[in-house]
Amino acid sequence: MVKAYAEMIRDISGNNPEKRSEHINIIIDESDRLAALVNDILDLSKLESGAVEINLSAFSITKKIYEIMGRYTLLSEQQGYKFFVSANADFEAEADIIKMEQVLYNLINNAVNYTGENKTVYITQLIVDGETARIEITDTGKGIEPELLPLIFDRYYRAEKNKREVIGTGLGLSIVKQILKQHNFKFGVRSELGIGSTFWFEVKGRVTENYDDDDEEGTK
Ligand code: ADP
Repeated sequence: MVKAYAEMIRDISGNNPEKRSEHINIIIDESDRLAALVNDILDLSKLESGAVEINLSAFSITKKIYEIMGRYTLLSEQQGYKFFVSANADFEAEADIIKMEQVLYNLINNAVNYTGENKTVYITQLIVDGETARIEITDTGKGIEPELLPLIFDRYYRAEKNKREVIGTGLGLSIVKQILKQHNFKFGVRSELGIGSTFWFEVKGRVTENYDDDDEEGTK
């Protein structure tokens, strides 16, 4: 695709400024997609080969969630997405911080991409017991057919109906699965057609502070 459009600029659209910039934009988008694909393939093959060890450290996953949400400000300000974070305690996770960041990003990016017109995403942290917290990422999109649920964590799986609407590599959830399996953390998904999907995972660690009220943050 990159080659075809580069050739079009050379042969046809070079003298037509509008066509030329249209074709250049396609090349830029396509290069981004290829770069993302290469990174995902490398990440996944490293994870699957067992060549990467997890680096455990103690960090506040609660603060990490709020920090990541801060990076979505532009998306909410410019494109009208709404994010609601809810956590009633500060939870210190014992996990690989970089990899857990990647899990959060992949799941939140999917929620943003698939949430549909409602443009709303909820991130909820629940305390399961003294040593377990569960993070849930919920969108208000079209949902996933029950028969497809067991497939979506597989490599390269992309639901047919989404293929054209959302650009993706089909590897994000496989990376999430590998990272969580490596940590021995439970994970899963539930979904209702026409209502939305909730992807969840658990982390091990400890509560360091209880918040009085549900801390809810809506970024418009
Ligand atoms: P990608 O999003 O790049 O296609 P993923 O591995 O992240 O790859 O997801 C695999 C497939 O699972 C997606 O193509 C899509 O069909 C489905 N999927 C993932 N997240 C959601 C979601 N929040 N809502 C609906 N479908 C989803």
